[in-house]
Amino acid sequence: MTDHEAEAALGAERRRLLAALDGASEGAGLEAGDGDGVPELSVVDQHAGGSGSETLDKEVGLALLEQVRSDLDDIDRALGRLEHGGYGLCEVCGQDIGDARLEAMPAARYCLAHQQAAEAEGRVVPGLSGEAGEGRHGR
Ligand SMILES: [Zn+2]
Repeated sequence: MTDHEAEAALGAERRRLLAALDGASEGAGLEAGDGDGVPELSVVDQHAGGSGSETLDKEVGLALLEQVRSDLDDIDRALGRLEHGGYGLCEVCGQDIGDARLEAMPAARYCLAHQQAAEAEGRVVPGLSGEAGEGRHGR
């Protein structure tokens, strides 16, 4: 895939995540802010005096928020590598990540083997591939 295609894919993914961030922030009762970049995680409680049941929503929202922010981080990193070189190469072994993987996950940082290794170590949270990646407990 060309740099242009990669940039377009990353841009689309970024917009999708920013939209998700908006939704997650709402769920968490946080101010999303708009325009450039990722909003600050200022914990301003806008629901003063809410009942206890809001707490769960908030926790789910915050977890999602964290996930989306880390995904956005990956995208920014990938955009940086597009600019400075190294995009599409595994950060561990330097091998080609491969078009198929990059199309599915434009911000991929590792080849399949090292992605799995990183996930096994718990350093990498699986991306929001497709739909919101939640509901998978057990590790
Ligand atoms: Zn690798």
